[in-house]
Amino acid sequence: MQNRVISRQDLAGFVDDLIKTKSAGDVIGIKAQGNKFNFGPLKSATELRLDYDISLLPPKKYFFPQQETVLKYEVEPAFKVEPVVEERMLCIIGVHPFDIRALQLFDAVYGGNNPDPNYFLKRNNATIIGVDCLNPIPKSFAASMGTNTVEEGFDLMLTDLGGDWFVTVGSNRGDSMMKKYGKGREATNVDLEKRNKVRRDAAKKYKTSLKMKPDEIPALLDANWESPVFKERSATCFSCGSCVMVCPTCVCFDVQDDPALNLKGGERYRRWDACMLPGFAAVASGENFREHKEQRFRHRMYRKGKYLLERYKYLGCVGCGRCGTSCLADIALPADTYNLLKEGK
Ligand code: SF4
Ligand code: SF4
Repeated sequence: MQNRVISRQDLAGFVDDLIKTKSAGDVIGIKAQGNKFNFGPLKSATELRLDYDISLLPPKKYFFPQQETVLKYEVEPAFKVEPVVEERMLCIIGVHPFDIRALQLFDAVYGGNNPDPNYFLKRNNATIIGVDCLNPIPKSFAASMGTNTVEEGFDLMLTDLGGDWFVTVGSNRGDSMMKKYGKGREATNVDLEKRNKVRRDAAKKYKTSLKMKPDEIPALLDANWESPVFKERSATCFSCGSCVMVCPTCVCFDVQDDPALNLKGGERYRRWDACMLPGFAAVASGENFREHKEQRFRHRMYRKGKYLLERYKYLGCVGCGRCGTSCLADIALPADTYNLLKEGK
């Protein structure tokens, strides 16, 4: 697989070809939404904003939608249940490295011995065209988490060299796309060094950092279950769940039935749930295993920094900074809590 360098004009032509031919499925891209950015269907390459800082919602929504019907049932005239699985071919353009890393965690959680068909029929058919993040938001600490760049998990990765784009080819699918539609030239070692310099310079722009190595977080948490930090920081929590709803690594859902008005059938759907909401850990007999916001706050920090790593080999936080940006109380960013624990506060 040969990396390439292509001009801005040729990249636009490449994207417009993908949109026109639909050869990689429906084309989704990062676009402006008011004064923010979000992923949405692309009508033209001119809509693409590869210079963006962060998307409001992470691209996981294309594989794990906010709400998704998983089965339909009938009780009359006879009992019948049919699974509902949507297959979709997608090409998503402009995914930042930390969001690619988050999708790798999703693959591990939704895969394993009993892979989730609703997730994988979309995920396996998806082409991921990433872009290096050169404008990190102030709350992002991806550089400290080692997720500001990735070496796998994409088909193509774009890096803005100023005039041209460096295209790192990450898969056979990406390689054939470049051969078929991409123009430009083969990248040289000089181009590669330019790309690496752009990445090094971007890493220096991160304003938030973790005061430890990411692999030290589990032991730090092990030593601090009783720390007053959790109670102090959660005192102003609104239990709104925003920090979870914007997170690229939050995988939890709730399942509900929606019966038809005539009660002859209905559908079952799943939708995003949030461990910061008061009812998340409530059970039918009336108990709530995490009744107090301090417990929910602590659970989220352990989930991000320990539990998922132990079970799936990936930390549950990629340092994107979305939670810290969306939290009205300004308490949600895991780096802030981990740093306080590290300082022994
Ligand atoms: S916990 Fe916050 S910083 Fe970490 S991945 Fe989720 S939204 Fe991003
Ligand atoms: S930490 Fe912030 S965003 Fe999360 S539930 Fe509490 S107030 Fe809402």
